[in-house]
Amino acid sequence: PIRVRFAPSPTGPLHIGGVRTALFNYLFAKKHGGVFYLRIEDTDQNRFVPGAEEYILEALEWLGISPDETVGKNEKFGPYRQSERKELYKEYADQLINSGWAYYAFDSAEDLDKLRKSDEENGKTFIYNHSNREQLDNSLTNSAEKTAQRILAGEDYVIRFKTPVDEILQLKDIIRGDVKFDTNLLDDKVLYKSDGMPTYHLANIVDDHLMETSHVIRGEEWLPSMPLHVLLYRAFNWEAPEFAHLPLILKPVGNGKLSKRDGDKLGFPVFPLEWKTAEGVSSGYREKGFLPEAVINFLALLGWSSGTDQELFTLDELVNVFDLGRVNKAGAKFDPEKNKWFNNQYFQRADNEVLAKELSHTLLEKGINRPIETVTEIVRLVKERATFASELWDLSDFFFMAPTSYDEKATKNWKPETAELMTKLIDVLENTVDFSTENVENTVKTWMTENEIGMGKIMQPLRLSLVGSLKGPHLYDIISIIGKDETIARINKAIE
Ligand code: GLU
Repeated sequence: PIRVRFAPSPTGPLHIGGVRTALFNYLFAKKHGGVFYLRIEDTDQNRFVPGAEEYILEALEWLGISPDETVGKNEKFGPYRQSERKELYKEYADQLINSGWAYYAFDSAEDLDKLRKSDEENGKTFIYNHSNREQLDNSLTNSAEKTAQRILAGEDYVIRFKTPVDEILQLKDIIRGDVKFDTNLLDDKVLYKSDGMPTYHLANIVDDHLMETSHVIRGEEWLPSMPLHVLLYRAFNWEAPEFAHLPLILKPVGNGKLSKRDGDKLGFPVFPLEWKTAEGVSSGYREKGFLPEAVINFLALLGWSSGTDQELFTLDELVNVFDLGRVNKAGAKFDPEKNKWFNNQYFQRADNEVLAKELSHTLLEKGINRPIETVTEIVRLVKERATFASELWDLSDFFFMAPTSYDEKATKNWKPETAELMTKLIDVLENTVDFSTENVENTVKTWMTENEIGMGKIMQPLRLSLVGSLKGPHLYDIISIIGKDETIARINKAIE
């Protein structure tokens, strides 16, 4: 059975790259009738940030890609929080010690720092591995008794993986094909520390195994860890899952990975939800007014393509067409303008009444109260010019308030004879009972034809009187919605 996971460390708000990883896992699971689970990798207590775990869940929920199993939900393989599985990892670390796949190391942080510095001075990068492990302070260079004594005496230690020597690992990645690693270049990574905590590598492999993970789908930054992970499966005698490393998400301009700072600099969010700290607020897609469907759609196309011209996909459609084999190796450039384009597409399709409710919040804040039917109708008339709900007010304010000023450029259409014509128009409107769009339009047009008044003489001054500028939707729709009294009052005011 297909079981995939999203395994974030709760060290802050979920970056858009993390969300894309979650999405691709979700799509892969659903496509194959499998399970998508969320595991919280919180073994690094120093980097733990309160609220981050809740944030991750809330973000996935908002986007409609909640996990099937996680903390507090279908805990078939629980706990799903690694800090609550702490006791379990020791046994596995011991197992590797006993089978000779790992060893104790006592080198102090200062000793290692010194070695690192002196290597640096000689233009080398220090790695703890086959080339020097026999000269350092560990259970390979100390007798078994001595090692046991030191541990018993409470000395700090770490357990390191004993990377095999002289082997070229030829591994398979679903996206990258064959990838080769020379084991001689690998670090003997720390798996476990005497403070009782496993490192990411050990906990991740033990849990992926125990939670029966079939495929590991994660960001490219984890590709260098793949050889160690595969070796760990070998060391435990476990079958390894399949791997797929997703391409990086790149800055919109320049080179390199998209960062939080790029977002701040160019004024677009790189987080699904707003994130507040003492240092400030990082904006989120949700709060900026992006629709979750739009965010899902543009994230899906960051590194994946369907192979057709189709750009708009619902989540269900994505599930149907998604294929890990069609994920690119090359990094995907993040394009804020394209994000907006997607939002516009979904915004235009959004339910008018739902948008009307959002606009009504703004209205209420301004002390304006209108029936939802009216607001819905107004949304229908103005939405084509908007991409976000927050733009609706500016596009529709004249439906709710008389203009307080008149656009100067437009007032040049107000000719000497205009006031007289407008007064006559008021008479016509006074005598009109049915104020539906069609009837007002017919009535006014008939009056103009009968009196041989050109369109230009009336339409622009009328719009200016009602809106304050020459913008806005169909004029007779505006008249119909604001009604007879308001229309006449606004024309009167303009005449003055
Ligand atoms: N905890 C790791 C992270 O924060 C998980 C990496 C993986 O998926 O193996 O991304």
